[in-house]
Amino acid sequence: MKSDQKTAVVALGGNAISPIAEEDTIPNQFRHTRQSLKAIIELIREGYNLAITHGNGPQVGNALLRVELARGKAPILPLGICVADIQGGMGYMIEQSLQNGLNLAGIDRGVVTIVTQVVVDKDDSSIQNPTKYIGQFYTEEEAKGMAARSSWVVKEDKGRGWRRVVPSPNPLQIINRRTIKDLVAGGTVVITAGGGGIPVYVEDDGCYEGVDAVIDKDLASAVLARDIGAEELIILTDVEKVALNYGKPDQVWLDELGREEARQYLHEGHFPYGSMGPKIKAAINFLGWGGEKVIVTSIDKVVDAISGEAGTKILN
Ligand code: ADP
Ligand code: MG
Repeated sequence: MKSDQKTAVVALGGNAISPIAEEDTIPNQFRHTRQSLKAIIELIREGYNLAITHGNGPQVGNALLRVELARGKAPILPLGICVADIQGGMGYMIEQSLQNGLNLAGIDRGVVTIVTQVVVDKDDSSIQNPTKYIGQFYTEEEAKGMAARSSWVVKEDKGRGWRRVVPSPNPLQIINRRTIKDLVAGGTVVITAGGGGIPVYVEDDGCYEGVDAVIDKDLASAVLARDIGAEELIILTDVEKVALNYGKPDQVWLDELGREEARQYLHEGHFPYGSMGPKIKAAINFLGWGGEKVIVTSIDKVVDAISGEAGTKILN
């Protein structure tokens, strides 16, 4: 192992595993994951110790659909169990693909997946006011019927149909942080906090209890990066850079962004709540906690981005 090892958390966006253009069958997900991980192997070769997080949107949507279709035949699975199951399943897929890639590249590193609980505040404001859409689309009548038969809260997703909404509380701490930190420091690649982790709160007696909610994977990745003492947070998505006026005629791609500037642009509405917003918020949080550098880029540009030749770099 090189002596100039750096520690980074790499957050894999949904596109790294199941791009929208591809049907999300398991063979397709495996094939695409293997392809995406080639860039991660290059990061390891460049001297990084890594923890890897990933999104789970389509996978959890499918898991919830299965629960619904099996209603009355197999027990209902609460959201926390679905997230845990998917952490295991996607973890297996990423772990095996990465381990195979490392072996073929002659790089002697272990890879493990850790099912991760993440502490949230049981009084988080989102718990009374759920806003995160998950799962299938329904007609208004179907959705209201589902809500009447269960504990679901349903809302209209702007003209797209009705969906279930769940709280998305702010992540506070990664429960397995010490184990993850030790493994990463020893050179093991750890896949963790998949889908943002399983939200739990701490009861008065110190015990953990699950909450029916989901955590944003970018915000959880920043907390993980802080909790394991990483220098860098690398957020991989399907755009090469962050833009101002994204998608408008006066769009400007950004090479570099300061923390205060990022905060200002976020405030001005350049980074929407459901997509670029949490990435920029994660960057601001991580830098505020003492992180050195955040990179937002696409998986195919990550190797160039770590040397500053691609992507958007966000610094203090
Ligand atoms: P991921 O699965 O990687 O989290 P998201 O869809 O949540 O992906 O976020 C990435 C998307 O954010 C990009 O595909 C892009 O369309 C969108 N986006 C919104 N605002 C911006 C912006 N200001 N700059 C770049 N991309 C943006
Ligand atoms: Mg996202």
